[in-house]
Amino acid sequence: MSKLTGGCQCGAVRYEADGPAAFAAHCQCLDCKKSSGAGHVTAGGWQESAVKFTGQLKTYASKADSGVTARRDFCPECGGRIAFRSDTFAGMVLLMAGSLDDPSQITPGAALYEKHHATWDHFDPALPRPPGMPPQ
Ligand SMILES: [Zn+2]
Ligand SMILES: [Zn+2]
Repeated sequence: MSKLTGGCQCGAVRYEADGPAAFAAHCQCLDCKKSSGAGHVTAGGWQESAVKFTGQLKTYASKADSGVTARRDFCPECGGRIAFRSDTFAGMVLLMAGSLDDPSQITPGAALYEKHHATWDHFDPALPRPPGMPPQ
């Protein structure tokens, strides 16, 4: 089984994930914009048991517009975004694509939250672009 590795900018947080992501997507929601400072984040999802972290993560929890609590984990040293968890993806951990040592190892299948699309942000035109978070 292939292992994917990644971590934050300063290297204080590292992780290993077993095998390919179960899914991957771009997210254009307002919270992902604010937390990343960019037009969208890109993330892949793994079973929680398939990912091992080393180093200390800090968590920022907030209410997603679906009403569930979203937890965004980041490195307290460099601020690098690492992981995302919420009941929408129960039992899963989402890893931020840019934190992978090789971000090309995931393939986004959709660009979520098209209703918050920034005009200057561009995606593969073949990707589905639902207005929000589709039902899981
Ligand atoms: Zn760091
Ligand atoms: Zn989002």
